Amino acid sequence: MNTNRSMVRLAALWGMLFFLTNCGGVQQPLKEVLKKQTPYEKYEQALKNVKLENTALGNDWIVAGRKALQDSILVSLPFKETGYFAADKPIAVSYLVSLKRGERLVVGVEVRSMQATQVFVDLFEAPIPTSQSPVHLASGDTSNTVIDFESREDRLYLIRLQPELLRSGNYTITMTREPSLAFPVQGKDSRNISSFWGADRDAGKRRHEGIDIFAKKGTPAIAATDGYIAAVNENRLGGKVVWLQDTKRQQRLYYAHLDEQLVRPGQKVIAGDTLGLIGNTGNARTTAPHLHFGIYTFGIGAIDPLPAVRVGSPAPPNVTAPMERLGTWARTSGKKGIVRISPDKKSSPLSEILKHTPVYILGGVRDWYKVSLPDNTIGYIEAKQIENAEKPIRTQKIASLTQILDQPAASAGFLATVEPGTQLPVLASFGSFLYVKTPDGIAGWLPIS
Ligand SMILES: [Zn+2]
Repeated sequence: MNTNRSMVRLAALWGMLFFLTNCGGVQQPLKEVLKKQTPYEKYEQALKNVKLENTALGNDWIVAGRKALQDSILVSLPFKETGYFAADKPIAVSYLVSLKRGERLVVGVEVRSMQATQVFVDLFEAPIPTSQSPVHLASGDTSNTVIDFESREDRLYLIRLQPELLRSGNYTITMTREPSLAFPVQGKDSRNISSFWGADRDAGKRRHEGIDIFAKKGTPAIAATDGYIAAVNENRLGGKVVWLQDTKRQQRLYYAHLDEQLVRPGQKVIAGDTLGLIGNTGNARTTAPHLHFGIYTFGIGAIDPLPAVRVGSPAPPNVTAPMERLGTWARTSGKKGIVRISPDKKSSPLSEILKHTPVYILGGVRDWYKVSLPDNTIGYIEAKQIENAEKPIRTQKIASLTQILDQPAASAGFLATVEPGTQLPVLASFGSFLYVKTPDGIAGWLPIS
């Protein structure tokens, strides 16, 4: 919104930000405190130090960051989203991702902006209670904004992305899933697993506490991670077995039915080292040679090894929704549109909206848009349900001197004044607001009673 008023406001804030980033005037004791903070917290503290939190924009920035922690947009991996941030409208976006124990989440963020722009990327445990401070797990490195996080439990995580104040540009976030361990059989991967966790054994008397990977007799069974050999022995079911202590994760990796054991107890190994050769010893005598691979954790016992060794997700699909609409108001084209919680037709609907409802384009995922409705509902809608808000749907005659607003809200700022008798082209409508264009070509909001 390039009104004079907001330009003056931005200029004043720029001056304060310059001071903030160049004066280096943080006192010594405080400096010590700041060292333990995340980059995000440091920035927030710096805003407070120069009293920027008392300005509307500074306060909006802080509120946007907190609000994003309570959002509940659930996405599945792999995921890629392109979005827009405007200098005069602080935003923070967040995503919920479900991970299994042993899976790694890799988050990458690319920013395209006229000026160098810092984007804060933070990972938290989710859901986040409103009353207490969220458990923060990782921050994106500010130089390349990447998080590589390994989940030690099955749970939901929240990723928040927020650019620094007074910058505009585009961001693209990608999130992929990777295994935390190497695959335990040389030359194979998780697509070669033929028996999974929980399968029946001994006619249902017990359950399979691992995975089986068939391979030619003599194929190397390899260390899935760095560690040391905890035991090399023989038992009735497993035959010749090797136990590898995973020193990083408080768990033991179990290799069974080996034809030959090639390590000794106490020996240090690194990921990829050969521990033994695939065979069919123990209760596998009558089956083809295979490795039975198990993971036993401290305190829990056997867990499903699959999430830890499963092939990573492929590269996320590209954004095909037209991106020239980013950061603009568009409208639904069809009879009605459905705004959903995730970019997926099977996900829960958040809102059913009428034909020609204005939607603000926040971002794109595949052939979906992430949109904000005039009532601030944020969700996803299929791009094919959206058209440019260009061709008027009707005109509205103005009865008395009227202000055109910069937002569809009673608290909005004034963009323009229109004279009585003016016929305004209506581009979209939502509840008690019409999205109109003034004779000077300014698009804004007209409250109707
Ligand atoms: Zn098995």
